[in-house]
Amino acid sequence: MNITIPTAPLGLLRRLNGAGYEAYVVGGCVRDAIMGRAPSDWDICTNALPQQVIDLFSDHPVAKTGLQHGTVMVIEDGVGYEITTFRTDGAYSDHRHPDQVAFVSSLREDLARRDFTINAMAYHPEKGLVDCFGGREDLAAGLVRCVGDPDRRFQEDGLRLLRALRFAARFGFRVERSTGAAIHRNRSLLDHIAVERIFTELKGFLVGQGVGPLLREYRDLVAQVLPELEPMFDFQQHNPHHCWDVWEHTVRAVEAVEQSTVLRLTMLFHDCGKPDCFTRDENGVGHFYHHGRRSEELADQMLTRLRCDNRLRKQVLLQVRTHDQPLPQTEAAGRRFLNRMGEEGALQSLAVHRADMLAQAPETWPEKQSMLDNAEHILRGLLEKRACFGIRDLAVNGNDLIALGYRSGPALGGELNRLLELVLDGTLANERETLLEQAEGDLKEK
Ligand code: ATP
Ligand code: MG
Repeated sequence: MNITIPTAPLGLLRRLNGAGYEAYVVGGCVRDAIMGRAPSDWDICTNALPQQVIDLFSDHPVAKTGLQHGTVMVIEDGVGYEITTFRTDGAYSDHRHPDQVAFVSSLREDLARRDFTINAMAYHPEKGLVDCFGGREDLAAGLVRCVGDPDRRFQEDGLRLLRALRFAARFGFRVERSTGAAIHRNRSLLDHIAVERIFTELKGFLVGQGVGPLLREYRDLVAQVLPELEPMFDFQQHNPHHCWDVWEHTVRAVEAVEQSTVLRLTMLFHDCGKPDCFTRDENGVGHFYHHGRRSEELADQMLTRLRCDNRLRKQVLLQVRTHDQPLPQTEAAGRRFLNRMGEEGALQSLAVHRADMLAQAPETWPEKQSMLDNAEHILRGLLEKRACFGIRDLAVNGNDLIALGYRSGPALGGELNRLLELVLDGTLANERETLLEQAEGDLKEK
């Protein structure tokens, strides 16, 4: 097994090893390199103590924020590399943080504290791969397996429950059987974990290529974090558009949409209000009137609790609220749609509708597909033409109206809105002369 280490981290390794210490690249970068993926960062572990690392790299800028965990960050060519002293983690009385870390002299002990076998390999430029726990085999078999006893490892740090699913989803791996059983058994440990950390892992999990089967198998873990989703499980729809229960439909919709955070969260939440809105008509057909609004309320509750940032929260809520509203089928409707949703939101909405369709009964696809294609054609055409769909895009601005005799203030804003309405309708062309004429006429009428 040969790994090509880039020049900068290789230089750091060489200096440590040349000074008589033992140093390796370790963790995610070794895993990624073996898989043929480009590692996002190269972490180093060493038997040198933090002060010895600082002394050895006294000619480099270093950041000492991780010092209490034994980590010194050495900056090379503007990039920070974490150099961490071999350590074990002490007891975890809060299921989150080790009470203290202890430096050790053996690499093996350092690897043993790591979460999963695929994350517990180290590589030395001369001595090669160190793999004490079968990480390579698990990589080849596509398995996420705890290092050591799974129950103990999850009880030390409950975040690992979600990390296991995140890595499995990212690589399309399965969770090894006894690790999986321990995930189910220990799910309530997530109650001790900071919501910010949970949300970070949850987002990483959702954007993974292999999220679908894991959402099915570990729905109890999902419900531990997001109990609002539980009523969807096995909820039958009794509706000809649907051939799956609400949760299975949701899983399929998540899988069908591209791997973006906004879109994956949207599909996860889009129908969560359905159980609350369920009614059956005289023919026994199920309906879910106004479930978009109810889903939005619940999604807002979940995202707020997870301390989701405002921008992401608003993007998701907009899509959840509007996911079952008809897409525009005329240019005028298309301009209004762009005005309401914005360009990015409008394109996301197409993706949401498509994924929602693909998770519904296949015999209903053709009609939905043609509406979708038409909407997409209209919206892309409008965007290409750089059509007007907001006040910013009007061929006149406030100063033009002031020149006509308008006073700045509400009347001016009102007139700009009126002009926009006429342009969105298609009543007026978005041309300077036309709009000025209209504005002049409107002024005389007042
Ligand atoms: P990514 O590509 O997502 O960064 P990674 O494997 O580098 O994946 P990090 O969270 O950056 O993951 O952690 C680096 C390494 O530290 C991991 O590979 C693992 O060996 C170890 N590690 C990180 N978090 C934990 C944890 N909660 N418990 C045990 N070991 C951990
Ligand atoms: Mg990493």
